[in-house]
Amino acid sequence: MPTEPKTIFIAGEWSGAQSRASLEVRSPIDGEIFAAISRGGKAEIDRAVAAARAALSGPWTTMAGFERGRIMSKLSALILDNTEELAQLEARDTGKPISQARTDIKATARYFEFYAGAADKVLGDVLPFLDGYQVTVQREARGVCGLIIPWNYPASMFGRTIGPALATGNTVVLKPAEDASMSCARLTALAHQAGLPPGVINLVTGLGEEAGAALSQHTDVDFLSFTGSPEVGTLIQTEAAKNHVPCVLELGGKSPQIVFEDADFEAAAKTIVSVITQNAGQTCSAGSRVLIQRSIYDRFVAVLREKMTEVRVGAPAADLQCGPVINRAQQVKVKGFIERATSDGINVIAQGTLDKSAVATGYFITPTLFGPVPVKHELAQDEVFGPVLAAIPFEDEAEAIAIANGTAYGLVAGLWTENGARQMRVAKKLRVGQVFINNYGAGGGIELPFGGVKRSGHGREKGLEALKEYTVAKTVVLKHG
Ligand code: NAP
Ligand code: MG
Repeated sequence: MPTEPKTIFIAGEWSGAQSRASLEVRSPIDGEIFAAISRGGKAEIDRAVAAARAALSGPWTTMAGFERGRIMSKLSALILDNTEELAQLEARDTGKPISQARTDIKATARYFEFYAGAADKVLGDVLPFLDGYQVTVQREARGVCGLIIPWNYPASMFGRTIGPALATGNTVVLKPAEDASMSCARLTALAHQAGLPPGVINLVTGLGEEAGAALSQHTDVDFLSFTGSPEVGTLIQTEAAKNHVPCVLELGGKSPQIVFEDADFEAAAKTIVSVITQNAGQTCSAGSRVLIQRSIYDRFVAVLREKMTEVRVGAPAADLQCGPVINRAQQVKVKGFIERATSDGINVIAQGTLDKSAVATGYFITPTLFGPVPVKHELAQDEVFGPVLAAIPFEDEAEAIAIANGTAYGLVAGLWTENGARQMRVAKKLRVGQVFINNYGAGGGIELPFGGVKRSGHGREKGLEALKEYTVAKTVVLKHG
């Protein structure tokens, strides 16, 4: 009988679920079961939240910011020292090409490096007030942070959420996705090794409807950060509202790449194809619509076709541009979009090719470029979360903006034009959280505040902006006159 997995970490100790239940972990590369995780639920979430609460009365809270920063720096160094092991684990668990996995692990280390440097720079304000008064606004830790993350970039989201939470003196309970918990467990062990006091970081693996729901419903959590689907985001926010708990929601996107007639075709096409095939298109900020000015539509599509045709899909070890999607359900979902678009008569402009390393039992998808896609079609409106790109023609600037803003989402936009005035004019009119001009960084840039509007969510993570989310302002008014 296999030994029971112990992937739950509470108050500095590893354990299995109280129920002894576990979940099999399948690799998307071949559909094989290669590990198991503990199926934590309400009992484990209760214990983890209690441990995180207790740790707020321990050394973590009295420690100077620079001391917290030193532990985080040590964690960053440990992650870098273990890059290869972590990357192999991440690639096996999520199916991403090994180079992408290494990039993600380096990004994880970079989060802790960045936020370690910020830990002693969480500044407040001194405000002018009435004569005889001194007013300061101090940023204080929120307390216990509940963090729920998805399977697409588990390691780097571990850094994106826990980095700013620790820098500002919070304690955390992390619920990773059932499909990708392996790197989070290893990173948690490294965090403990780096010297985080027990209870500062707690990890509960398990199902969203069990452990995730218990965390979002918990009355002793002070703050929630959720990244995932808009549907679950709504559930989280509803639960949070019942307890008056603030939350940050990073949901999906239908991000437009807008290509004007004066764009650098080569640079634009190369980036656009690379971004939609990165992580097999399972990136919330993937540019999944390419809006092309009608005067250059045919010429630009020809360059896109060439790039898309070159994309090869295979196992992580083959290290091609694109790996499998995360699980069977996601594969069925993405294939459904492709089949419906095809049966609706939408032209397939180009497809990538499956490499021999893409075995039939793995969850592979052939990257596909469709176009022209009518703006009301689901391919132009809904998040596919797969390597599927919709080309949409537009006449002029006004129409480009209307189409770009014409979905329920508002996460990121890419602009491709050499015209400086147009760059600023259009950037100002886009209802999104980030605009990239003549470049595009899907998820890239630890320094860059990230988050959406509308159905893409609210609140900001990454950069110094995240420090505001993970703290709360306290105004202190002293009368000395
Ligand atoms: P999801 O259900 O939103 O999962 C995200 C996280 O929330 C996971 O940790 C999940 O746990 C947890 N969760 C699920 N149900 C919950 C509940 N009732 N209460 C609390 N937590 C809960 O996303 P998914 O099912 O993995 O993917 C579905 C779609 O979401 C994708 O096709 C994609 O369109 C979108 N998505 C977007 C992002 C993004 O970065 N914006 C990331 C992932 C997925 P379990 O994994 O254990 O269920
Ligand atoms: Mg997995």
